[in-house]
Amino acid sequence: MAEHPRIGFVSLGCPKNLVDSERILTQLRAEGYQLVPSYAEADLVIVNTCGFIDEAVAESLDAIGEALDANGRVLVTGCLGQREAEIRARHPQVLGVTGAHAYEAVMEQVHRHLPAPHDPYLDLLPPQGVKLTPRHYAYLKISEGCNHRCSFCIIPQMRGDLVSRPIGEVLDEAARLVEGGVRELLVVSQDTSAYGVDLKYRLDIHGGRPLETRLKSLARELGQLPAWTRLHYVYPYPHVDELIPLMAEGLILPYLDIPLQHASERVLRAMRRPAASERMLSRIRQWREISPDITLRSTFIVGFPGETEEDFDRLLDFIQEARLDRVGAFAYSPVKGAAANELPGAVPEPVKQDRLARFMEIQAQISRDKLAAQVGRRLTMLIDEVQEERLVGRGPGDAPEVDGQVIVEGAWEGISPGDFIEVEVTGYDDHDLFAEPV
Ligand code: SF4
Repeated sequence: MAEHPRIGFVSLGCPKNLVDSERILTQLRAEGYQLVPSYAEADLVIVNTCGFIDEAVAESLDAIGEALDANGRVLVTGCLGQREAEIRARHPQVLGVTGAHAYEAVMEQVHRHLPAPHDPYLDLLPPQGVKLTPRHYAYLKISEGCNHRCSFCIIPQMRGDLVSRPIGEVLDEAARLVEGGVRELLVVSQDTSAYGVDLKYRLDIHGGRPLETRLKSLARELGQLPAWTRLHYVYPYPHVDELIPLMAEGLILPYLDIPLQHASERVLRAMRRPAASERMLSRIRQWREISPDITLRSTFIVGFPGETEEDFDRLLDFIQEARLDRVGAFAYSPVKGAAANELPGAVPEPVKQDRLARFMEIQAQISRDKLAAQVGRRLTMLIDEVQEERLVGRGPGDAPEVDGQVIVEGAWEGISPGDFIEVEVTGYDDHDLFAEPV
């Protein structure tokens, strides 16, 4: 099998079905599946069917038969999927059948029959990426590839230089998603702040207006939609500062996922990343002045080749001063083909693990203090799940899958996933907040 599992996709029927197809395709791409245009190249084929009139049923059954003949591994979804017995009577060998608008169920079947390999250095989704995205939030991929050459990373080798999608295309997709029930757009790419650099910020037409293909214009436009917009993987370029006023205005969520990786200038230089942590601290202070509710998430690598105890102390000082809200940390491990593998000064594994534990201990206390400071505050909560005895959702500061949750105890009538409710925070535990509706 190829490095990225390959999927062929056949979409039949009306525009609504097309939106469903786009939704499934977006999810497949976000999880690292490769979409291929022929049956022969595919490891698996999905047929999104129509069952509206007899002619459409016949066309759908034929399309399934064609895919089975040409490829053999076929999943069926869409309107005709409601009539599973009819499909199985004609094509008993299909791998699975799901009905219309069943994104989660389709993805579950794809994972079962063609698992996506997880690579933390390549995947845009969190490690629990196989968890299904409920239909009220969606990942909006704005570009592919990266122009940086961080020494620990092989993404540019694998996916090439940055290729941005024109702003009109991204905004059309966002509008379709919101129309289809999405209430939170998670903007992802390998390098979100570089959006448009490759296109020289070219003008594109959207809604009859010329717009620059650049992150600030994109954020401003997404902010007009009746959904939350959350920015992920924002490399710390200076122009990121321009986004903070949009957060203060309430156009996009006051949330920035900004991978900093380290704070020692020496280590950052070895990583081939911008090395100005003093400047970073003053920028963070400014961001908090402009948008006091901003939630900052970052990731760090400890035990990078050549990292001394002094470098590591510098990192600890930084996190103590920056007091970031959410932090992920990893002990460095070499990635096959990465330039960093050639660097001298490999840090012994026990030292790496010891540093990671020290780092996490300090950050855990900071995160606890941050959660404690939320008690008594009011926030808007997006409902992810309605359980028998409680509501589970998230506030503006919690990205799905990677951050904490907000929990409201009790049985609640008339509330569904995707609803927004106002709550007051009443308590917290290690990761989550507890709240009551106001
Ligand atoms: S910014 Fe660096 S770490 Fe991120 S994808 Fe580009 S090269 Fe890799």
